[in-house]
Amino acid sequence: MSINPPVFENPARDSFETSLWHQTAIVAPRYPTLRGAHKAGVVIVGSGYTGLSAAIDLAGQGSDVVVLDAREPGFGASGRNGGQVIPAFKYDPDGIAKVYGDELGETVLDMVSKTADVVFDLVRRFDIACDLRQTGWIQAAHGESGCDTIRSRQRQWQSRGAPVELLETDALKRLAGTGLYPLGLLFRNGGTVQPLSYARGMAIAAASLGARVFSDSQVRSIKRDASGWKVATKDGSVLANKVVIATNGYNTPIWPGLRQSVVPLYSMQIASKPLPEELRRQVLPVVESMADTRRLVWYFRKDRDHRFIIGSRGPFKALPSERDVQSLVEAACTLFPMLRGTQFPYRWAGRVAMTTDQIPHLHQLAPGVFSALGCNGRGVGMGTMMGKILAAACLGADSRSLPYPVSDLHPIPFHAFHRVGVHAMITYYRMLDQFS
Ligand SMILES: Cc1cc2nc3c(=O)[nH]c(=O)nc-3n(C[C@H](O)[C@H](O)[C@H](O)COP(=O)(O)OP(=O)(O)OC[C@H]3O[C@@H](n4cnc5c(N)ncnc54)[C@H](O)[C@@H]3O)c2cc1C
Repeated sequence: MSINPPVFENPARDSFETSLWHQTAIVAPRYPTLRGAHKAGVVIVGSGYTGLSAAIDLAGQGSDVVVLDAREPGFGASGRNGGQVIPAFKYDPDGIAKVYGDELGETVLDMVSKTADVVFDLVRRFDIACDLRQTGWIQAAHGESGCDTIRSRQRQWQSRGAPVELLETDALKRLAGTGLYPLGLLFRNGGTVQPLSYARGMAIAAASLGARVFSDSQVRSIKRDASGWKVATKDGSVLANKVVIATNGYNTPIWPGLRQSVVPLYSMQIASKPLPEELRRQVLPVVESMADTRRLVWYFRKDRDHRFIIGSRGPFKALPSERDVQSLVEAACTLFPMLRGTQFPYRWAGRVAMTTDQIPHLHQLAPGVFSALGCNGRGVGMGTMMGKILAAACLGADSRSLPYPVSDLHPIPFHAFHRVGVHAMITYYRMLDQFS
């Protein structure tokens, strides 16, 4: 397929480098730009968690792998996210059975419940210095319907043996320090990572296994010829038998319909300076990461140096405005009134790839070309897991033996107008959140 993609995101109008994660991440090696003609077994387009996890599994099993990124490992959502390692999915066990059917549902459920462990195992196996903390993850109930969701979630996960615990207000206050929520659910097996360090560490791990990683190498076309797939950038090309497209919400039009199968929604975060000793004991004192059940979710955590970080979704842009920042500062002070007066010097945003059915999509786009995208807000664990599944697919696993279904590509109708739709949806969700 040969299409001329538009110029990739303008670096001057982006907030990757102003993020807390960029300021505190491990230093990345300088990867070369692809020049000249190369050959490989598998070319991976995109070096976020999905592409890098695939690269690690493939290179670890002897494949000759080339990884190409338009910018650098972790430049997309993987270097900007909340770093919350969430051992759950959009759907609870009963919902999973409904969406995937009883038999496949069991397989998907088993896979979902392992997503956090896959991250923690990878970090330990390659000794990735990404401030891994396994202090659990809490989802708190917003409003009456949130309480019903949390109670039902607890029943469903507990009956499957998941390490979850229902928290009433007092317990919630003791573990998290906020008295805002009536109820919460603790997933003991959740935790946090420094997201950009995790991505950079994965790239280092893939390279240590023999994968060739290239930065500033935006793929412009993917074409089939008699000897394989030719993946071309401005200055070079790679001829390979297999291609993995792992470009998620940062995708450029390199494959017809792929970009139109997800809606890129901005999520933004702000971070404080390291909190003084007294506030450290009051803000997230035991469990260090949380989110709530709002439609426009509030998610928050502390980092290694006790900075408070909070994020939400909204009609934001790649460069957050002062008004966006103030709305998050207000949210922080609503959760933790003792934070009033705290400075938040870091602000940044990133694109979450949303699917209309709110589940990730795994595609075989052509013989030997695979893609996974749309992990919505669960990509730290789920993207890492999807990379493993893509690797298995490249190594020849039959699609029926994969722990996730391969689906057809369905471009969203009227995708060109998604900004208007997203704006209307966000206004509507904000209103629903206010009145619940
Ligand atoms: C602000 C924010 C907060 C989030 N918080 C959480 C959280 O706390 N927990 C959680 O589980 N999930 C969270 N998510 C979701 C999670 O970050 C993503 O699901 C995950 O990082 C997706 O990883 P990926 O590898 O699929 O894609 P990405 O990390 O987006 O990587 C795509 C890569 O493709 C590259 N690329 C694009 N086009 C080309 C091309 N033509 N040629 C070469 N390279 C190309 C890009 O440069 C980019 O590096 C959050 C997302 C955001 C944006």
